[in-house]
Amino acid sequence: MRGRLHVVGFGPGGKEHMTFKAAEVIQNADVVTGYTAYVNMVKPYFPDKEYKATGMMREVERCRMAIEDAMSGKDVAMISSGDSGIYGMAGIIYQLAEEMGADIDIDTVPGMTAASTAASVLGAPLMHDLAIISLSDLMTPLDLIMKRVDCAGQGDMIVCLYNPKSKTRTTYLDQARNILLKYRSPDTPVGIVRDAGREGEWSKVTTLGGMDPDDVDMFTIVIIGNSQTYESNGRMITPRGYKVGGE
Ligand code: SAH
Repeated sequence: MRGRLHVVGFGPGGKEHMTFKAAEVIQNADVVTGYTAYVNMVKPYFPDKEYKATGMMREVERCRMAIEDAMSGKDVAMISSGDSGIYGMAGIIYQLAEEMGADIDIDTVPGMTAASTAASVLGAPLMHDLAIISLSDLMTPLDLIMKRVDCAGQGDMIVCLYNPKSKTRTTYLDQARNILLKYRSPDTPVGIVRDAGREGEWSKVTTLGGMDPDDVDMFTIVIIGNSQTYESNGRMITPRGYKVGGE
């Protein structure tokens, strides 16, 4: 039988945030593969499946292994958190499968990305044009990342920062803030959400000037409002349009 590989975004963690499609694909798979932390999140919902948790294995090795399993005729679900196509595994899988000449069926199963989950925790901050930017410079040169932050600032776009901080990357968030302060008031609302949609969820609405980088870590997403975003009763709201009173 021709092997299949599904690159599945299972959302932030809780089963209520998983699509029916993601659940169905995981349920029907011969083997469920993924980073150990993700396997541990999904396992309680599908306890009878065969799992292959891949620890700190490098991304490319993990993808190669999943492709090889599919090449042997298995139905493989490769799980990743949020959306598998947003800073997820989908891209590498397609690239690598082509490079390996793998004769398998691949499909991308989308999931709820961290920006959507965090936005729901904060209220309604993403009601207008937005830019999603990762502050990780593992794959992207830092000057290009900051250029994108600058462009988003110029365009008055709401900015969602993924990978805002790690143990070694501690200053990029401040750098991004300073760029946005060229275009936006220090009072601009900022939402910080850690572990959105999963156990230990924590959030705070603060301001661009007052944001404390100590509140932010690698399990956190930072949403910076546009010039129209306001805070009300602890909720962060961006009006749908620029004109008050409708279209
Ligand atoms: N594919 C994932 C993103 C992976 S990049 C998605 O679509 O959501 C990893 C970064 O995403 C983290 O550093 C963090 O900034 C953000 N992130 C992922 N899940 C999160 C969650 N539940 N709560 C807050 N931020 C999250």
